[in-house]
Amino acid sequence: MPRESSRAYSTDRSQEIEVACPRCDRPTSVAVSDTDAEFVVRPYAAAFGEYNTAHCSNGHKIWIYSC
Ligand SMILES: [Zn+2]
Repeated sequence: MPRESSRAYSTDRSQEIEVACPRCDRPTSVAVSDTDAEFVVRPYAAAFGEYNTAHCSNGHKIWIYSC
């Protein structure tokens, strides 16, 4: 009857997506809360919108905005 072992790995709706670093094109994993949204990757912070930040393996900071 209990069936909660099947998805032990997923926490809420947060998942990882892979984006390319805008400075060096390295694939970088980013944890996002809503994979249904569209994501825009920027090499700088904008003054609006919700975003996550990540660092590529070259140490560049990436801003990922969800629209
Ligand atoms: Zn980079």
